[in-house]
Amino acid sequence: MRRNRFAFRSLWVLLDAGVGVVFWGMMGLSFWVGAEFQMQPVLAASQEPAAQPSTSPTPAPSGENPSGEKPSGAEPETLVFHNAKIITVDPQFRIVQAMAVRGERILATGALEEVLRQAGPKVRRIDLGGRTVMPGLIDSHSHPPGAAVYEFDHEIPPMDSIADVLDYVRKRAAVLPPGQWIVIRQVFITRLRERRYPTRQELDQAAPNHPVVFSTGPDASLNSLALKRCGIDRNFQITDGKPGFIERDPQTGEPTGILRSCGRFIKATSSVRQPSSEERAEWLRRLLTAYNEVGITSVTDRGVGDGSIELYKRLLDRGQLTCRIFLTYYVDAQAPIEKIAETVRRVAAHPLHQYNPWLWLRGLKFYLDGGMLTGSAYMRQPWGVSQIYSITDPNYRGMIFLEPEKLYQIVKLAMQNQLQPTAHAVGDGAVHALVEAYERVHRQDFPVREHRPCICHANFMAADTIELMARLGVVADMQPIWLYMDGSTLLAHFGQDRLRYFQPYKTLFEKGVIVGGGSDHMQKIGRRRSINSYDPFLGMWTVLRRLPRWTNEPLHPEQCIDRQQAIRLYTIQNAYLTFEEKQKGSLEPGKLADFIVLDRDILTCPVDEVADIQVLQTWVGGQQVYKRP
Ligand SMILES: [Zn+2]
Repeated sequence: MRRNRFAFRSLWVLLDAGVGVVFWGMMGLSFWVGAEFQMQPVLAASQEPAAQPSTSPTPAPSGENPSGEKPSGAEPETLVFHNAKIITVDPQFRIVQAMAVRGERILATGALEEVLRQAGPKVRRIDLGGRTVMPGLIDSHSHPPGAAVYEFDHEIPPMDSIADVLDYVRKRAAVLPPGQWIVIRQVFITRLRERRYPTRQELDQAAPNHPVVFSTGPDASLNSLALKRCGIDRNFQITDGKPGFIERDPQTGEPTGILRSCGRFIKATSSVRQPSSEERAEWLRRLLTAYNEVGITSVTDRGVGDGSIELYKRLLDRGQLTCRIFLTYYVDAQAPIEKIAETVRRVAAHPLHQYNPWLWLRGLKFYLDGGMLTGSAYMRQPWGVSQIYSITDPNYRGMIFLEPEKLYQIVKLAMQNQLQPTAHAVGDGAVHALVEAYERVHRQDFPVREHRPCICHANFMAADTIELMARLGVVADMQPIWLYMDGSTLLAHFGQDRLRYFQPYKTLFEKGVIVGGGSDHMQKIGRRRSINSYDPFLGMWTVLRRLPRWTNEPLHPEQCIDRQQAIRLYTIQNAYLTFEEKQKGSLEPGKLADFIVLDRDILTCPVDEVADIQVLQTWVGGQQVYKRP
């Protein structure tokens, strides 16, 4: 499939008050389209994403020419997709039968005759056999470079129970020379059926001759050899004044193997092969292809450093990006404010801070609180004493990492430098603290709405927080699949009442808060084997049903949203989160031709089938990047 992408010129002219005009230079046609967009443009002139085909790479298409015809001559060919049910996700949520694509953008949508009239003389028709088409899906939260190489050395099986964990330890012990470390990271005990750590004795039995560490968040369980290697015995005391706790047998004083916030004492060395930077780039490319297979055409990387940026840049330069990537730069909020300011200015001066629809460095991320899977998210009310989370202090509310003053300074700095601030904020206390910081900037310094200040996760919310978010224009990047994965453990701990505003999608839609759906994918490649699963159809099903795994009871079903809203969550609203709702997120003339073809109708199939929808074709910028074999 070879087309001259650049012969076609389109030009966005943005006028004020959200009215845009697209001039189709070749055709002499113009459409008033801006008034149809539900979101108003709020970008500063220098930041405004404009159609710029000359800066886009050509993705390597894995599909074939669907009609088998070869285009001839230099004149641009228009692809006309027809005999389809095209869900445009425009403000009226119109369904149309046909769509014309020229170069990387959509030329027209509507009835076939109408579309053909606008398509010009050189047309290639593609009959979609009545299939459903929708905009390419967008994931608002992922960690692709790390996830891609998670299994670089060896395959890591799913671990849903203590037996699974011990099985894996035994298998590693069989292949590693005695004395080498076996390290398991980020398997959350709240996601194990037993909801507890594997014990020292269990790990000893599975691998008596290897030091073993099983870690979750800040805590870990070690076997006897690992404790010995770390010098942690009956007499060991923490004397550096920092937090940490060694659990001990009350009779003997012997460590049980469970260490809390003691990562600095665990001297594990890696026993696995590390990828070279070229291997990292190749595995990242493969992961983006895997995203295309489930219909993902754009992803936000929630936390890059210079190394990850370099990997993406390499794929961009080679024309190997098959997903569009929005980058948020990770900054250590514990560093002195002068150092943070230096980082912010350096990121703002980076060449990728200029808009490019394939790769755009436009956000800043930091950590504000702990996590809900480790019992450390910062809550407004005490967590409550808990066996699962090992909480003994009835007044414990979790951990927050920044004082209000510094939090205010960081988010203000980001917005002053045209970086969208966002923070990992899980508990309702942390979420509210972040929104209050945005409110203070709004009150004292400048209006924040145009900066679309963001919150990552925002699992636990409250009515007053949501009101304030709506008033200020704060957006949220949320993870439906956590409700599916962790809802039953959370319910067992918190009870129904405290989960009233757990991922409250319905309320957020009603109040006009723009939220987007994301996975927080961090491990493994594969639709359902990945953690957290990057399957956007599982995400959409979750917001329709709110049914946690291992239960039959929906979690606050009054917060379910409908299919149109679920689709918006993963398309136009995610485009809004990255300031790109005029570029993508719906299928409308002038927008990037990012779309997918489904094996069934997402609007009418039985609701429980939504999770299993298969993608037949994925197109990014008018190029087919995936075709189901
Ligand atoms: Zn994340």
